[in-house]
Amino acid sequence: MTTHQPPEHPDFLWRNPEPKSSYDAVIVGGGGHGLATAYFLAKNHGMTNIAVLEKGWLAGGNMARNTTIIRSNYLWDESAAIYEHALKLWEILPEELEYDFLFSQRGVMNLAHTLGDVRESIRRVGANKLNGVDAEWLDPQQVKELCPILNINDNIRYPVMGATYQPRAGIAKHDHVAWAFARKCDELGVDIIQNCEVTGFLKDGNRVVGVKTNRGTIHTEKVGLAAAGHSSVLAEMAGFRLPIQSHPLQALVSELHEPVHPTVVMSNHVHVYVSQAHKGELVMGAGVDSYNGYGQRGSFHVIEHQMAAAVELFPIFARAHVLRTWGGIVDTTLDASPIVGTTPVENMFVNCGWGTGGFKATPAAGLTFAHTIATGTPHKLNKPFALERFETGALIDEHGAAAVAH
Ligand SMILES: Cc1cc2nc3c(=O)[nH]c(=O)nc-3n(C[C@H](O)[C@H](O)[C@H](O)COP(=O)(O)OP(=O)(O)OC[C@H]3O[C@@H](n4cnc5c(N)ncnc54)[C@H](O)[C@@H]3O)c2cc1C
Repeated sequence: MTTHQPPEHPDFLWRNPEPKSSYDAVIVGGGGHGLATAYFLAKNHGMTNIAVLEKGWLAGGNMARNTTIIRSNYLWDESAAIYEHALKLWEILPEELEYDFLFSQRGVMNLAHTLGDVRESIRRVGANKLNGVDAEWLDPQQVKELCPILNINDNIRYPVMGATYQPRAGIAKHDHVAWAFARKCDELGVDIIQNCEVTGFLKDGNRVVGVKTNRGTIHTEKVGLAAAGHSSVLAEMAGFRLPIQSHPLQALVSELHEPVHPTVVMSNHVHVYVSQAHKGELVMGAGVDSYNGYGQRGSFHVIEHQMAAAVELFPIFARAHVLRTWGGIVDTTLDASPIVGTTPVENMFVNCGWGTGGFKATPAAGLTFAHTIATGTPHKLNKPFALERFETGALIDEHGAAAVAH
């Protein structure tokens, strides 16, 4: 791994048009998922008279606040299928979008600290292999070879008993991903409208026919909700409930360092995960703050716990400094899997519940959600994630693979 400056931006990224009075479809939320959805609606389904409405600035939600870990080593077939599809898209998207967003396949390690962890991890490696996902089980010595700064002594609070490793996993530069999608959307004719908050919906009986915004009413035949932490707020405006809880989730970075951390290391047990950004910052994240909230900030004790754990696993971090901390609002579900598909309101569709781990899914979420919006039917990859599963009981419990999710 080398540290380097991100590439220069193109001179022009996107227009800032005034909202029109009507569109064929409106996407609510200008994060990665909303932008990817608009891109695939335009590219794959020829729907170009569409708008992405964003209440703040583009990617100001979780999109540019996440720690950018991309992997596909989830346990169940349904999850492996959609996350692996996303990983394959990440591999071709820089060329397709003509934008270098520094996708770096430096591998992701998930540490095991207990016998229970070891059994669960080895089972997951087996399941991954059956699903064509690259996965390996590493013993502590192999862990040390891949990441020499990790403390693998067995006399620490959380001894490293091994790790799963996905070599094709890695990180990307999140804001560049958003700009890459936005630029292509703009080229295809999509209107990206910032500072445009959806405040309500127009309905004809049970059918959505428009959205009310702080910049006027917009008529439309189709609405796609891609609002992450605010999904349940929007659903309530539309007259239905989502089984979502919104929590703060925090992350932080250190000052710039020489390359010391060649891969991505996650520890579900310790609730910490670390990578080194392209410029050299150590990027770390923690578990969610346990209370519900809509503030893009969290509590200090969570960061403190995260630091204590990180220093234990990586003793050399003791001399690094925290430069910046921040928080996002993550939309968590009961089974740690997303909700994608139709809603009880006709012509209104939802893509949410990606919680602490939806960045990695961005391209596949957008591609499949676009299919659902354009055709009114599920895509085979998002079908298992329909809202109805909370009534039928066909849950896809990914707490093991998702735990710290990222
Ligand atoms: C600290 C942190 C670390 C994370 N780390 C990872 C990681 O390493 N890997 C990973 O895969 N995932 C990670 N995630 C999760 C990931 O960021 C999210 O799952 C994903 O970004 C959600 O999709 P999105 O990008 O579209 O969301 P967002 O970027 O949050 O987009 C939703 C948008 O909707 C807008 N909106 C809300 N209400 C309205 C309204 N009424 N009108 C108009 N617009 C509205 C919001 O302003 C927001 O911009 C992390 C999240 C956080 C917070």
